[in-house]
Order: sequence, then structure tokens, then C-alpha cells
Amino acid sequence: MTRDEVFNFSAGPSALPTEVLEIAGRDILNYGGTGTSVMEMSHRSKAFIQIHESTKDKLRRALSIPETHEILFLQGGASLQFSMIPLNLMKPDGAGRADYCVTGNFSNSAMKEAKKYGTVNIAATSEAEGHTYIPAQSELKLDPAADYFYYCANNTIYGTEWGYVPETGAVPICCDMSSDILSKPVDVSKFGLIYAGAQKNMAPAGLTVVIIDKSLAGHEMSFTPLMMSYQRMIDKDSMFNTPPCWCIYMLGLVLDWLEKQGGVSGMEKIKSEKAALLYDYLAESKLFRACARPDSRSDMNITFRTGNDELDAEFVKGATAKGFSNLKGHRIVGGMRASVYNAQPIEGVKALVEYMKNFEVAHNV
Ligand SMILES: *Cc1c(COP(=O)(O)O)cnc(C)c1O
Repeated sequence: MTRDEVFNFSAGPSALPTEVLEIAGRDILNYGGTGTSVMEMSHRSKAFIQIHESTKDKLRRALSIPETHEILFLQGGASLQFSMIPLNLMKPDGAGRADYCVTGNFSNSAMKEAKKYGTVNIAATSEAEGHTYIPAQSELKLDPAADYFYYCANNTIYGTEWGYVPETGAVPICCDMSSDILSKPVDVSKFGLIYAGAQKNMAPAGLTVVIIDKSLAGHEMSFTPLMMSYQRMIDKDSMFNTPPCWCIYMLGLVLDWLEKQGGVSGMEKIKSEKAALLYDYLAESKLFRACARPDSRSDMNITFRTGNDELDAEFVKGATAKGFSNLKGHRIVGGMRASVYNAQPIEGVKALVEYMKNFEVAHNV
């Protein structure tokens, strides 16, 4: 198939804007008259330092990140943050405690990792309901003496998304925004730490963006690996070692593209429109139904099923043949999942809804 024939609904690594890939392709052998590719440059070179700094500036502007917070470009995926957060933010010697909300697979893994370093309080869990909803503020059991409060803003696998930022008093909030960062405005000042693996909504895999309130860094446990100290990375401007140069460059291009779409406010309008197209159809469909509770639905990962595994498989197979790729749900939940991140054009969602309607008619429902 050609790129024009495919609408890629991958949950991650996911679609990047075609325009961004075209610019990267155009400059791949010779970036800005340097005669070298960004992939071949020293990370200490003038050209790369300029890319690094401008990408940070663009991200700071896009999310209105206050000066109290530092931007870090790290590696190890979103998953390394499951360990870095407790290592750096919990009190040492097993005296640390933290609140975790378990609303899916990734927050569950993060919670288990934190248990290695201190006491974990489960502030809320949606496990008994198959992670189909987001707990309300009134359901959160908060520990006022916690070192931090942790949650995952968008549950990529289950298709649920927090519609509010929890109130935690003086306890700093750590948030995994891997799958909804840059899809809407956020008040960064409410957070102690935000992190996101880039491969969902920002750049190719290999980069993790961390936005950290500088006052929280510098208290890591004494045995924290060299590469896992936020303070060290802040001191070295993410260049303690070789950073993921190519991904940082790509993030810069994606941020230029984002600005042309009206920034995060523009993106919020577009993503709401895209999600409404799918959810409105799911509400009226007699064949498909949405998996998540209506008040907890994600605008990024839309999960649905027919209730019949064979029919689900037939739907996915037929969709793939028509160019709607990666619609199969995550293996731990089954069903279908349409990931509609920023780079998914509204035309892709409209075409998918048409395909679903035709499939429904063909199956006489
Ligand atoms: C994909 C994802 C992760 C895991 O990311 P890796 O970079 O593979 O470690 C963690 N949290 C969320 C919300 C995700 O969507």
C-alpha cells in the first residue's frame, strides 16, 4: 500500500504528521547546510545545541511551562520513570511513602516498582471494574504525609482519561502523560513532575520528556544510578551523556507543526471533534459498543467491541485490508482500539466511521 491508502491507528509508536516526515526526509542527508545528517552530528556541535535549545523553547511555549520547571530529554522509555520517580522523590531508607492511583496497566507497573523503595498507599484502583473508569476526587484516599501522589492521565490500553487534575493539598503530583500530552492545555504549575514517552504523541521512540519542578530534584537515594538522577540531568541540561539527538530534532519539527494547528488549544478542538465522531456513532450503533464508562472516556484511545471475539477479528481483518491499520485492541483486553493522536487527520476518523457503518449493515444489525 502507499502512505495515502493507509490510516494508521497505532497506539504507539504511532503516526507522525506527513509534513514532518517530509521535512525530515528532505534534510536527512544535509541538515541546514552543514553537509551532515542530524544523525551524524556531535551532540556538542553548534548545530545540535541550537536544535536542542530551540526544541526546549518550543515545548516551553507550547505548554506554557513556568520557569520553576525544567525540561529534560531522557531515554529509557516512559517505563524508566516508574523507577526514577520513587528513587528521586521518596524519602530514603524505606521511610518514603507515596500515593498511587491504579487505573490501568502502566500505573499498576509504576506502583509495583515504587513498592521496592518505600510504602505505597493505593489512593484508588479501578481494577475490580476492569479499569473501565476514572475515580472521582471524592473516591481518592489521600495520605497527607505522602512524598508524592502518582497517576496516569490517559490509560492507553483501556481507553480511559482523567477529566480533572486531582487536588492533593501540599503533596506534589507526578503524572504519566505519555498518551495525551500536547492534546490539550495543561496547567503545568499544578504538577511536581510530568513525563511522557515520546512515541505516542510527540516523536519517534527513544525519547522521554520529563518536566520537573526543580525544587523536587536533588534528594535522590544514595544508591540511585548515575543515569537516573534528575538533579544530574538538570545540571547537565540532559547532556550528561549522549542524548537521543534524532528524536529531539523530530520533536522540534512536530512542535512547529503543532503551532501551525493552533497549538494545544487548537489541538484540543480537533481532538474533541474526532473523538465525538467515533463516540457518537458508537452510542447509536447496535453492533459496536464503547468499552469505557461515558464519563471516563479517552479522546486519544477509543476502545470498543462487538461482544463477539470472532466478529471483532473479522472486523479488524477487513479494516486492515481497507487500509485502517492497527485497530486490534491490546492483547490484555482484546476488542478494538482506535488511537487518534494529534497526527491522525479527521478524514481518517470519518472514513473509519463509514467503514464501521458499512460493516454493521453487512452484518444485518
Ligand atoms: C506506552 C506507555 C507507557 C510505556 O512506554 P515505554 O516508553 O514503552 O516505556 C507508559 N505509560 C503510558 C501511559 C503509555 O501509553
